[in-house]
This record gives sequence, C-alpha cells and structure tokens, in this order.
Amino acid sequence: MVYESKINIGGTLIWYYYICKREVWLIGHGIEPEQENDYIALGRHIHEIFYQRRKKELNIDNTIKIDILPGKKVIGEIKKSTRYLESARMQVAFYLYYMKREKGIKMEGLLLVPEERRRLKISLTPDVEKALEKAIKDIEGIISMERPPSAVKIPYCKKCAYRNMCWA
Ligand code: SF4
Repeated sequence: MVYESKINIGGTLIWYYYICKREVWLIGHGIEPEQENDYIALGRHIHEIFYQRRKKELNIDNTIKIDILPGKKVIGEIKKSTRYLESARMQVAFYLYYMKREKGIKMEGLLLVPEERRRLKISLTPDVEKALEKAIKDIEGIISMERPPSAVKIPYCKKCAYRNMCWA
C-alpha cells in the first residue's frame, strides 16, 4: 500500500529532512534565504559542466526534476561530495519511489560524485520504501507546524543559506 501525501513533496525536501528539520519547515513555507548559498551554487556549477551533454533532465508533474541517463532506465543525481550520503541516497530513492508510485515505472538510481570519481547504485528496497513513507509523513507534520522547529547547531549550519536567520 502506497502512502498518499497530502502535500507536494519533492526530492529537495527529502534531502533536507535528513539534514535539518527546521530547514524543511523554512523551505516548506516558501521562506527565501537571505543570501546565495555558495555550496548550492558550486553544486549547480559542477552539475552544468559535467553532465550538460550526457543527461536528459525531465520535469515530472512539476514535482521532481530528474536526470535520466540516455538509453537506460536509470535516474542520476549529481552531488559535490559523499559527505551527506544518507540524504543523497534517500533523495534518489525518493525519485525511484515516485516513478514507481506515480508512473508505474521501475527504475534504478545512480548517485554520481564527479569530484570523488564515485558512482553509487541506489535501489528501492521494501525497507527504503518504508523509510521514505515515514519521512513523507514526518515532513507533512513538520510543515503543518505553526512555527519552525528550534535551531540546533549542526556542521551543515556553516554552509546553510538560512544561517543568518538561525544564528545572527
Ligand atoms: S542554519 Fe542550521 S539550524 Fe538553521 S536551517 Fe540551516 S541547518 Fe538548520
């Protein structure tokens, strides 16, 4: 039985769910960060220079943007490093889950980390599906809160676009 989310949850919220619940609330409420995040900008740059010609980006239902590797039923996601590996894995797994649930298409995932020359295969196992369904429910709960969860200092805060909002 597939869990039906009441809100439009995309891969970005899944990624942040495994990093910071407060950030999930801020993004979910459409609150813009005060400054351009160098980390995000660098990630975008890497994405552009490495994969511009090799992938086909698809916008599915205005909910997820995925990179389909040509000629394969594989969803690729590019990251700057493996530092936030759990988040990255679950983000890719969410795309697989979405394609299976909404489109009836079974796909495999590939996490690409060009700077570390790594390629990690991601599959949608029953345990991963259960974890995603829990994450989706939790994200709904977080976003429905009137106020954001309290800020908790974590290493990611240093590069977070919301850091001035949390720690000024
Ligand atoms: S600065 Fe830290 S606590 Fe605030 S949203 Fe970002 S990661 Fe979360």
